[in-house]
Amino acid sequence: MAEKPKPKPAAAKHSVFEVAQHQLYRGAEVIQLDPSVRTILSQPKNELIVNFPVRMDNGEYRLFKGYRIQHNNLMGPYKGGIRYHHEVSLDEVKALASWMTWKCALLEIPFGGAKGGIKFDPRDHSQAELERITRRFTHALGSNIGPDYDIPAPDMGTNSQTMVWMMDTYMNSTLQSNKNAMRGVVTGKSVTSGGSLGREKATGQGLVFAIENWAEETGFNLDGATYSLQGFGNVGSFAARILSRHGAVLVSVQDHTGAIRNSEGIHPKRLVNYVAKNGGVAGYPGAEAVDRDAFFGTPVDIFIPAALQMQITAETAPLMSTKLVVEGANGPTDLEGERILLEKGVTFLPDILANAGGVTVSYFEWLQNRRAEQWSEDDVDARLRAMMQRAYNTMRRIRIEKSTDNRTACYAHALNRIQAVYHERGIFP
Ligand code: GLU
Repeated sequence: MAEKPKPKPAAAKHSVFEVAQHQLYRGAEVIQLDPSVRTILSQPKNELIVNFPVRMDNGEYRLFKGYRIQHNNLMGPYKGGIRYHHEVSLDEVKALASWMTWKCALLEIPFGGAKGGIKFDPRDHSQAELERITRRFTHALGSNIGPDYDIPAPDMGTNSQTMVWMMDTYMNSTLQSNKNAMRGVVTGKSVTSGGSLGREKATGQGLVFAIENWAEETGFNLDGATYSLQGFGNVGSFAARILSRHGAVLVSVQDHTGAIRNSEGIHPKRLVNYVAKNGGVAGYPGAEAVDRDAFFGTPVDIFIPAALQMQITAETAPLMSTKLVVEGANGPTDLEGERILLEKGVTFLPDILANAGGVTVSYFEWLQNRRAEQWSEDDVDARLRAMMQRAYNTMRRIRIEKSTDNRTACYAHALNRIQAVYHERGIFP
């Protein structure tokens, strides 16, 4: 007898961009956003896709697919990171670009929103290949980026070295006499090549400021508080090191190599050293290996997703037991996952607030480049703290006024600011 065909795995209910659109509509509803403004904001302004050839170390040529999605530039130049990941897609980059628009509007930074990416796994390539891929992509983007037009930054799979290659390639394709004015074409550069002090840790630092604001609002004591971390890259590893100064205890970590747990606490600094040598958290001697369900199921005070999008879902949310979800990643929670946790009484510090430290210090870097200044790290941190606090206070006020959740309150503020400008300037023609 023929075997019964196996049922297809249930497809995700919504694409990442659909989740982003749904979040926009929720925010729009709360402030009764003008329907024409909602229509404009529901799709990006520009969607650029480039296919470009790169010579590999073995002499062969390979074609890469790169994206730059420019969602909105009403409030200032397009702004947002460049992601190198084998699952990059148009749908994902569109969602990520829109989140940048809301993030910058919420933080009251004079930038719009954009995002880019190349669909490939950077771990499969040598430094020399990464350099050629980055430079060729920058060349393909050409005048679609610029310090007053569209300003890339690091994201997943890219770092300060990637940004310096982009800057150098861009500078070398402009007029000799104008080169130095082009430094601000990207942010997140190394400090030696024009980056800002405090930028590398900025997203993790901002995340901790947001947690401090929440702890203050709710009277929660961070000393001895337990937390889990999904992702141990730039955001997660800096957040963990900074949180340990508050006495918070890291009990479980998951990354692309596996998950580990130790109820006595995992030492962030030691884990950073281990990951630098071994490429991931798997096998870390100071903790036991656990599976995905045990990772999500570990009861903690704070859960920090700082990896890919769409991780907290109808499948994983029911396993979770936490007070607070702090979204270090962009879009880590899908609609069902969010509904389940909100019903359980879990509070969210949404991505567009919680991980805004990165783009905020990018803005500081851009300002320093324009003025040929170098601010001290203390100065950068103090300014970041003040901007995170202001955004938190705004979110809290709107959440209370509108009896809504934190995410919707953040969207309400971002959309209100954007709408005011559309109304003043009019929609051309
Ligand atoms: N990629 C980061 C983000 O998602 C930083 C963007 C930036 O600095 O422009 O917010």
